[in-house]
Amino acid sequence: MRTATVIAPAMAALLALAPAPGAGQDTTSDPRLPEASRRLQQYIRIDTTNPPGNESEAVAFFADIFEREGIAYETVEPEPGRGSIWARLEGGEAPGIILLHHIDVVPADPRFWNHDPMSGTYENGYLNGRGALDTKGLGIMHLEAFLALARSGAPLERDVIFMATADEEAGGKLGAGWIVRNRPDVLQGVGLVLNEGGSGRVLGNRVVFSVEVTQKVPMWLRLNAVGPAGHGSSPSTRSAVTDLVEALERLRQDPFAPRIVPAVGDFFRDLAELESAAAELADPERLIAEPDRLAALHRTNPMLHALTRNTCAVTRLQASSKINVVAPAATAELDCRLLPDQGATRLHS
Ligand SMILES: [Zn+2]
Repeated sequence: MRTATVIAPAMAALLALAPAPGAGQDTTSDPRLPEASRRLQQYIRIDTTNPPGNESEAVAFFADIFEREGIAYETVEPEPGRGSIWARLEGGEAPGIILLHHIDVVPADPRFWNHDPMSGTYENGYLNGRGALDTKGLGIMHLEAFLALARSGAPLERDVIFMATADEEAGGKLGAGWIVRNRPDVLQGVGLVLNEGGSGRVLGNRVVFSVEVTQKVPMWLRLNAVGPAGHGSSPSTRSAVTDLVEALERLRQDPFAPRIVPAVGDFFRDLAELESAAAELADPERLIAEPDRLAALHRTNPMLHALTRNTCAVTRLQASSKINVVAPAATAELDCRLLPDQGATRLHS
């Protein structure tokens, strides 16, 4: 789990982390940490787990920084505790740019972490914490760039807007979605949005930034199975649970047909050129035509594999609340992600 929850080395370099203090040491007030690292640590320590979100506490954190920097800002709070904030540097006539990230994070179970996920613990050159990658790290990089621009006083060709929003992890209705619906004036004249999804890496002696051109389309499903209820001591041949398990097993055994969309084809070929370890990506069509090679990619790199097909992850299961009761109903929830050029109605074609 840990590798998915720490700042990637390239990002650590961007944040210019100082030499690592002793393992596990609390470095809240370590003066060797530069401003960005200290701020990221503080930001991670604001628990913005969604639900409930509690983004307004982070809005106050940003507002305080803007106050001290003398930068005007605006906040909204569509529901108690669910705040968003933005600030704008005025520039010329070119289309404006928004530096956008979301404040909320998904829940983290401390039992499976090496450190308290809300502690922002700094260890061996890495800052550990829920949201370090998604997307408080990005938010602090945006903030530092925004503040550097403001401090420089340099004339800008375009407006630059820093924006931190609520509720992204639950669909964004109380965050970015709310702003689009209720404050279109903020977006007037904007032509570009820099958001999460791309990443920077050092490959050999080259710094490489990948650019996310779109996202797969979420389709969240609930499977409901019903069957005869009974006592655990005398199970029937079928039940809601066995039906549900069979359905899920079919889904696991029979994944959706792979397909390479044009942007993924370009991305894979470019990766193969940059990285010898990615040589198998050089011919994406051949890769998906050979099930063993595609299965190997799935094992070694689930993220790249997910770009090749529609996927469904089983994320929640529920049945009986008592160990000796055969439940009359069982449910599973599936987080399905569709290739971006396809509508949900074609999922089963
Ligand atoms: Zn995110």
